[in-house]
Formats: sequence, structure tokens, C-alpha cells
Amino acid sequence: KAKGQGRNAYALFDTSLRDQVRDRMNLEQALRSALSRGELSVHYQPIADLATGELDGFEALMRWQHPTLGSVSPLDFIPIAEETGLIVESGAWLLREAAGQLAQWRAARGPGARPLHVSVNVSVRQLRDGALVGVVRDVLAETGLPPEALWLEITESGVMEELETALATLDALRDLGVTMAIDDFGTGYSSLSYLNRLPVGIVKLDRSFVCEVGRHGANESIVRAVLAMTRAMHLRVVAEGVETELQSDWLREQGCDLAQGWLYGKPALPAEHDELIHRATVR
Ligand code: C2E
Ligand code: MG
Ligand code: MG
Ligand code: MG
Repeated sequence: KAKGQGRNAYALFDTSLRDQVRDRMNLEQALRSALSRGELSVHYQPIADLATGELDGFEALMRWQHPTLGSVSPLDFIPIAEETGLIVESGAWLLREAAGQLAQWRAARGPGARPLHVSVNVSVRQLRDGALVGVVRDVLAETGLPPEALWLEITESGVMEELETALATLDALRDLGVTMAIDDFGTGYSSLSYLNRLPVGIVKLDRSFVCEVGRHGANESIVRAVLAMTRAMHLRVVAEGVETELQSDWLREQGCDLAQGWLYGKPALPAEHDELIHRATVR
């Protein structure tokens, strides 16, 4: 079922197969012109340091405001953007946008402040496309950002799909000095040994593991094991989908580094974070 927000997004997929095919083609057609029509935007969600409560950075999340469908969920349009290759162009646009926004925020906070990062989702299709490394290099040069301030999130299933091509790109990105992160960690079916092969510095623990912690949930032992393993590998961990005080307290006690979720803030336009970036702590 479509997870789009408006009523129309539901109706769109709640139809016969023929209608679905037609709707899908319409959506694809609409997505082709979304970028040039200015229908795409970037929302930013704060990522907090669990130990100190300080802001560490933001994840950039793509939004599509369709003129008649309303807001279309990235869960619905990113797969289409990947299949059609449109993600290459819109992904490059988003990288520029997010890096520019981060540079602005860092300048606004001044040189003495804790340096913020921005984390951008990158799809397999972009890893496969030869242009990504060049785009990242250009964006870093244009913004003057230190490369480690730019995080690129990849999913483990995405990397495993095409390990050899992905590895070449990931190595080139590592050479640029950007920070690589594994997104939705724990949801793939691959072995853990790949973690040693990938040049990553961050693991983002999937929300499905986080939602039960602090209430003696079944996943607590898994989360503890992941934290022990990542500590041994000198990787930092971001807990995704932190919604309650209980979850954040438990994660802090277990030594988890960073957290992201509604407890700290929902994804929002940059202007809505203007006050946050000058505050001592996120909450
Ligand atoms: P993700 O990268 O794992 O992003 C986190 C998702 O969890 C976001 O959904 C965010 O709004 C949601 N979330 C954050 N905190 C909470 C919470 O406390 N509770 C709950 N229930 N949800 C929370 P969103 O923005 O709808 O994005 C969905 C997915 O779409 C992303 O998952 C990512 O895989 C993909 N995506 C979004 N933007 C881009 C993009 O620019 N490029 C690519 N390749 N993928 C993107
Ligand atoms: Mg992500
Ligand atoms: Mg994620
Ligand atoms: Mg996720």
C-alpha cells in the first residue's frame, strides 16, 4: 500500500492493475519534470549527541510536492527515481542543496561552535553512475566544507547488490575524505563481514530495533550486541526513529553515540531550524 500522505496518494494505488500501470506511468512522467518545476525540496532532521544533548548535524530528506497529488512520500517516488535513473540528476541537485545549506548553518554558528555535519542518502543507482564522485568533489570545492562534514548514507542491501562496482566508488569517495554511513543497519540479510570491507565510519541502527528498547523488548540484546561490535570496530552509531525519553535514556546508558527521531525534531525546512542551530542543546 502506498504510504503517501494525502488522500490522493492512497487512492492512486488502490485501483485495478491497469489503472496502477497508467498511474505509475503518470507518476514517472510527473517526476521527470518535478525538478525543473521546482516541486522538489529538501527537509532536514536534527541528529543529536546522546551524551551531551548537543546538535551534531542533520539528515537531508527529499520531498516532492506534486501540484495535484499533494506531497508524495519518498518511499513511493525514490524507487521510481532509481529505476528511471532520475535519481542521478535529482540526487546531484540534493547534494548541492544540502552542502550549501550546511555551509550556511556552519557560518551562522561561527568558528568556535561544534562543527555540524549533513547526511545525504545515496542510492545504488548513484553509486553505479560514474558521475557521483565528481559531483561530490565539485560540491566540496564550491562550498569549502571539510569533506568529513559530508556524510553519505548507503543501505547494506544497496551495496551488496553490486559489491564490486559499489566498492570502487566507495573507495574513491573515501579518498575524498567524506564520511560513509550504513543506513537502516540490521534490516539487510547480508553477513556482517562486509562491514570490514567497506570504508564506513557510521552505522545507522534501523528504527525497527530502536522502537522497543527501554521496555525490556526482545531487541535490546541485539542493540547491545551491535553497540559492542561497532565500538570494537571504532564506528559511531546513530539510533534512528527515537521517539521517547525512555528510548533515548536507554540508548545513552548503553553508550550509543547519536540519535535521530521525532523526540529531537521532525524533518523540516531549513528556516524552521534557524533557532535550533543557536541553541545549546537540541531539546
Ligand atoms: P531513511 O534514510 O532511513 O530516513 C529516515 C526516515 O525515517 C525518514 O522518512 C524520516 O522522516 C523517518 N523518521 C525519522 N524519525 C522518525 C521517528 O522518530 N519515527 C518514525 N516513525 N519515523 C521517523 P522519509 O523522509 O519518509 O524517508 C523515507 C526513506 O526515503 C528514507 O529512509 C530514505 O531511504 C529514502 N529517501 C529520502 N530522501 C532520499 C534521497 O534524497 N535520496 C535517496 N536515495 N533516498 C531518500
Ligand atoms: Mg537515511
Ligand atoms: Mg535511515
Ligand atoms: Mg530507516
